[in-house]
Amino acid sequence: MTGTENLKSNSKTKKELSQWTKILLIILLIILCLAAVASRYLYPTGRIAPETCAVRINRNGVPMGNFFLLQVNEKYIAIDAGADHIQTEKGLQKLGVSPYDVMAVFVTHAHWDHIGSLDLFDKAVIYTGNTEDSEFPDLPHQIMTDGEVIELSGMSVQCIYTPGHTIDSVCYLVDGKHLFVGDLFVTTNDPPPPNSKRYDSDLQLFYREKMLEIEGVQYVFTGHFGLFKDVRFFRLWL
Ligand SMILES: [Zn+2]
Repeated sequence: MTGTENLKSNSKTKKELSQWTKILLIILLIILCLAAVASRYLYPTGRIAPETCAVRINRNGVPMGNFFLLQVNEKYIAIDAGADHIQTEKGLQKLGVSPYDVMAVFVTHAHWDHIGSLDLFDKAVIYTGNTEDSEFPDLPHQIMTDGEVIELSGMSVQCIYTPGHTIDSVCYLVDGKHLFVGDLFVTTNDPPPPNSKRYDSDLQLFYREKMLEIEGVQYVFTGHFGLFKDVRFFRLWL
């Protein structure tokens, strides 16, 4: 190889390297932006109200969601179950809660980040919406009908069907004032989640509008955007 060819080859390698650096920087920037957005909304693991705790879940170290625990006397009910055993166990440990203290898990929908550690709660009754044709795993569970109310030690949990994000998506209205919406509200133009064959954005929009009609809601808990005090906030998302 001549000197000129050597120079050309070196400059080509440098160009390729600088392109890769640019790509890596862009990826890093995207991760930082996602982390900033998530940390703005998401709760760190801890008590967020006298009888309500949030557990934060991360993906590749980036905060990406919450699931919730409600205290009922000496026991707990969970809304969703987190993404994996390690994170869920760590979160529960931080709160001083054993999985055995959880008597019921109410699942908003069968996506991995909401049900990944469901089998950790083997003393709990698992409640879901209609899991027929959904991606719900092979675990014993009790399907609630649309509008059905379960009473647990004086706490009432109503299941409201809101398919769209997935076919089995539901919200839970606790004591008529705390609404747990899972991923019904994500972003305005949220793309179909991976592996979700039944995604239907029109249906999701229909149920978003329908949830605005519920009266008496004081707090709205989301899977990825924290807690809001007024369901009318969601008008911004329609
Ligand atoms: Zn989801």
